[in-house]
Amino acid sequence: MKVQEMTGMNYELTEEQVSIRENFKKFCDNEIKVNADALDREDQQVSMKILKENIRKLADLGYLGMGHEEAYGGTDQDLTSQAIAGEEVARACASTFLSVGASCGLFGVPLRMFGSDAQKAKYLPGIIKGELIGSFGLTEPEAGSDAASMRTTAVKKGDSWILNGTKTFITNGPIADVCLVMAYNDKEAGPAAGVTAFLVDKESPGFSVGKSFDKLGFKGSPTSEIVLEDCEVSDDAVLGEIGRGFIQAMQTLEFGRIGMATVSLGIAVACMQEAAKYASERKAFGRLINRYQEISFKLADMMIMTDISRLLIYRACWAKETGDPESAVLASCAKLFASESATQISSWALQVHGGYGYIKEFPIERLYRDAKLGEIGEGTSEIQRVLIAKDVLSKYAD
Ligand SMILES: Cc1cc2nc3c(=O)[nH]c(=O)nc-3n(C[C@H](O)[C@H](O)[C@H](O)COP(=O)(O)OP(=O)(O)OC[C@H]3O[C@@H](n4cnc5c(N)ncnc54)[C@H](O)[C@@H]3O)c2cc1C
Repeated sequence: MKVQEMTGMNYELTEEQVSIRENFKKFCDNEIKVNADALDREDQQVSMKILKENIRKLADLGYLGMGHEEAYGGTDQDLTSQAIAGEEVARACASTFLSVGASCGLFGVPLRMFGSDAQKAKYLPGIIKGELIGSFGLTEPEAGSDAASMRTTAVKKGDSWILNGTKTFITNGPIADVCLVMAYNDKEAGPAAGVTAFLVDKESPGFSVGKSFDKLGFKGSPTSEIVLEDCEVSDDAVLGEIGRGFIQAMQTLEFGRIGMATVSLGIAVACMQEAAKYASERKAFGRLINRYQEISFKLADMMIMTDISRLLIYRACWAKETGDPESAVLASCAKLFASESATQISSWALQVHGGYGYIKEFPIERLYRDAKLGEIGEGTSEIQRVLIAKDVLSKYAD
């Protein structure tokens, strides 16, 4: 009898998933990781060239279409397979993962879920080929965690809508061809019924890219404001139903949180590998430092934390895939644990490098800077704890 028949549990990847992991590992090591430092350090013009090349290479490999329907050029893979591939992309280059995730995920997933055939046909083939870049505009200067307090408005004018407002911290802002913008069309109806999502092309009158941000990490993934000044879009730009934009955004963030957990896992694994390698080369007091328990125990804890992160991610993927009502809270658990683990692991891994961890010659310096975003993007750690605690109280308080 097979073990899974005896236990009802199966931790084995399918043959296809094993081959996805192997292919992506090899490809990302050879083609993506080699440019990660340059992408982080070069000036904007050079780094955007590298980023776009990375996006096109991953498109050719099929990564950008994994979550999309075959009719538009995708391969419609399950979420676990996407996470397996994503871990390898993030391990090689977190900035590339983030920009691809904003385009195919934060922009592409709601389009897949709520878009009309015409909207999908207009954008998805280009997004999947890496020829078009998408972005997701929810956050505003005065509305981050409290996204419902957004101020951007949409007013109907004949067959058009006029958008006014500023979105901030928008991944791909400076390079995106199209942004999914959430705006109040009816403030009185509140977020659940009064926000609409619009597909806003960069050529739309009144659309402009605002201030670009110089960040601590993820320097290869551009971030900026998006400014809408009497920005006019047609009725065709409305995604799904009028008034459903906030709900659509929240549903998108469930996928986004799995994505943020995955990029954190990739960073954490990269840190663990760098630490293990360095500890096996560096000598102090006549011995390799991996012989000192203080160092090797850090490696052991890194292994446990990355493995738990991976299991939580796969569980969240499986829950989402099977329509489990727990999927939202499981995505929050995966995101919270994986991101806080990545921050801790990056700090330990830097410590293992001693002074060499603090200079730019070793990749750990970049990984340490990149790790922190996981605790902020797609809902901060505090917000994940608010959501998880609410779930616990709803189940166990009485
Ligand atoms: C590099 C980067 C890329 C990003 N990409 C995108 C993107 O593509 N699209 C997009 O729309 N947004 C994007 N964001 C925005 C991101 O989602 C927000 O920064 C995040 O949600 C937090 O919002 P805030 O920065 O306004 O912080 P605030 O909401 O002002 O929070 C400040 C602090 O208060 C805490 N806090 C707030 N409310 C509570 C509460 N109820 N209980 C406990 N603590 C609380 C927070 O946890 C945090 O510690 C990006 C951000 C960064 C840094």
